[in-house]
Amino acid sequence: MISSRRELCVIVPCYDEEAVLAHTHARLVEVLERTSVDFEILYVDDGSRDRTALLLKEIADTCMRVRVLRLSRNFGHQIAVTAGLDHADADAVVVIDADLQDPPEVIPEMLARWKEGAEVVYGVRRTRNGESAFKLRSARVFYRLINRLSEVSIPLEAGDFRLMDRKVVLALRQMRERHRLLRAMTTWVGFRQVALPYDRAARFAGTSKYPLRKMLALAVDGVVSFSTVPLRVVTFVGLGVSLLSVLGIVYAITLRLLTDNWVPGWTLIFISLMFIGGLQFIFLGIVGEYVGRIYSETKQRPLFLVLETFGGARESEALHAEST
Ligand code: UDP
Ligand code: MG
Repeated sequence: MISSRRELCVIVPCYDEEAVLAHTHARLVEVLERTSVDFEILYVDDGSRDRTALLLKEIADTCMRVRVLRLSRNFGHQIAVTAGLDHADADAVVVIDADLQDPPEVIPEMLARWKEGAEVVYGVRRTRNGESAFKLRSARVFYRLINRLSEVSIPLEAGDFRLMDRKVVLALRQMRERHRLLRAMTTWVGFRQVALPYDRAARFAGTSKYPLRKMLALAVDGVVSFSTVPLRVVTFVGLGVSLLSVLGIVYAITLRLLTDNWVPGWTLIFISLMFIGGLQFIFLGIVGEYVGRIYSETKQRPLFLVLETFGGARESEALHAEST
């Protein structure tokens, strides 16, 4: 083999993680060295403002298995992981947080599942320590909402801590959309996915880099990127309003023709108001359908992904072997 590809690349996105990096690295190396895989650790510095870059330089200088990728500014967690996926060259990739909330000790088990044939092994949080009741509850609502509205269903309690086979990484590389929720994207690609329960620890040190604002943005991305249901709602509202307006129109005409209970000019104004109101919503809905299609086209996702092929190739190999 000519390729220098490693067996495993562990991607660690880091944003202002000076307080934990040394510990994280020590624990990762300890765990990975106990397995027999040929591994590499790829730290992605997502525009940290503290001493993270300096520490990464030191770590890279002392440890041959480390590669560091520094982004030009803070692009956010999902993009940092994406950068890592684009730069990883390995048969399998593990994405893990820098704050030791995802225990590295789970990685060997992920590797075992991978060797058994799974292309995605995703960590599912059995318990969560050190996170506020609000965060837990909001996460729950968020996943329910995504699963209800969108075409993929994301496993509850799954984060970004996961192992992905090279096939999956190559598939994700084809998905160049800007608003990314990687855990939903890895679900979307398919392949053989296996859940692995683990206990989520509290952050080892430092503070969460996910304030409410970023969490909300992530939630919106999750829904909007995987669903055009909100657009379609407009059409249904339009149909509803039109139905009501028909009732209103009948009511106005009845008043006008069968009673004395009317004001000159009122019937016409009322009818046109109802009529145009309903019509506008329906037209908005139609425009929405086109916008939805433009939206899904611009995402440029692959139309399909191949799990494996067999048959023909082997036959021709056999033929080839016979003739030589
Ligand atoms: N992170 C990042 N860029 C950001 C925010 C976070 O690379 O803009 C990294 C962070 O260093 C950590 C991981 O993403 O390794 C998860 O962030 P954090 O632990 O703060 O999120 P929480 O666990 O609180 O949801
Ligand atoms: Mg964390």
